[in-house]
Amino acid sequence: MKTQNIRECEFQRVYAQIDLDVIRNNVMCMKEHINPHTRIMAVLKTDAYGHGCIPIAKCIDAFECIYGYGVASAEEALILRNEGITKPILILGYSFSYSYEPLIREDICLTVFREDTLLQLSEAAGKVGRKAKIHIKVDTGMSRIGIPADDRGFMLIQKAMEMENICIEGIFTHFAKADERDKTDALHQLTVFQDFLQRIESELGLHIPIKHCGNSAAILEMPSTQMDIVRPGAILYGLWPSGEPNPEIMKLKPALSLHSHVIFVKDLHKGQSVSYGGTFTAEKEMRIATIPVGYGDGYPRMLSGKGHVLIRGQKAPILGRVCMDQFMVDVTEIDDVTEGDHVTLIGTDGAEQITAEFLGELSGRFNYELVCCLGKRIPRVYVSGGNISAVRAPYEA
Ligand SMILES: *Cc1c(COP(=O)(O)O)cnc(C)c1O
Repeated sequence: MKTQNIRECEFQRVYAQIDLDVIRNNVMCMKEHINPHTRIMAVLKTDAYGHGCIPIAKCIDAFECIYGYGVASAEEALILRNEGITKPILILGYSFSYSYEPLIREDICLTVFREDTLLQLSEAAGKVGRKAKIHIKVDTGMSRIGIPADDRGFMLIQKAMEMENICIEGIFTHFAKADERDKTDALHQLTVFQDFLQRIESELGLHIPIKHCGNSAAILEMPSTQMDIVRPGAILYGLWPSGEPNPEIMKLKPALSLHSHVIFVKDLHKGQSVSYGGTFTAEKEMRIATIPVGYGDGYPRMLSGKGHVLIRGQKAPILGRVCMDQFMVDVTEIDDVTEGDHVTLIGTDGAEQITAEFLGELSGRFNYELVCCLGKRIPRVYVSGGNISAVRAPYEA
């Protein structure tokens, strides 16, 4: 995708391009991979892992296989509702009591694992005049949030059942190690969860409609974890939950690429150093280019002296420290680099590719973390059917 037909002045410095066809294709790949009766709760937390939660939700919302959306906070849930998303939304984390009334009013599901939440929710539901929908979180090995799968947890469910204003719509757990090669611990978590579900059904006669546990790693490699819904985040965006991408399991493609343009080209003499601290010194005549992107955009400072970008289909290694808003690369070996040349920071140029997995590894960051941290200063350009379908300007919400 060339940048001519976008508002150049705003997007030349840097832009993240998000290919909505790729997102839809990733959903289709997932659908083929899972049981026909299992539906998908697309996880859109942290602004859809930096991709932009509203355009992502809107581009997949019409799919029958999309059950609804998972988010991390009340604010993330309300943004989606305010933009007209009507499918179920579940807040996967803890919700603070200030948010209960608006959430119930907007028919947003809350995760519950504390007794005080039940009481407060019930009260809020009474005020709103509508039932509070909840999913119970069960801790089966993550030790993060959730009721224990024992008598104590069982009693909380019993309490919730007895509350008039509360509707137990779902129950779920989360894997700590589904991405590891050895699935023993993850399968143990699954067994603990299933045994607990069994107990609830047999002793309470309670049939909870929506049971779920699978994250991306489990969807890829643990088919037995597919229940009523699965909760993919990473693979929706074409990110891999761990290690090397494995196209044999699922043909996913990364939806996001990151682009800039060369703003300055200059020759260095032997002995001249580059950037703060002069950590790189030229040992020969060199040509370098300045790129107007930095850690203020979420481009990791840890890539100082380590990473590379792609210019004219070739690798241009980073020289010296990455600054807040700029960094320099070596273009000595690339012919004819000129000011205005296109630069790929994440993505493909010719035969070369830089993935979020690669950059994450190199910068001591997790690939999820890398895309989540792409800042608000970076405009987002959405592409669909080869055309630009939407743009989000720098600092725009
Ligand atoms: C973030 C999250 C997910 C999605 O995880 P991925 O590895 O990105 O698929 C699913 N469930 C819960 C509870 C989460 O917090």
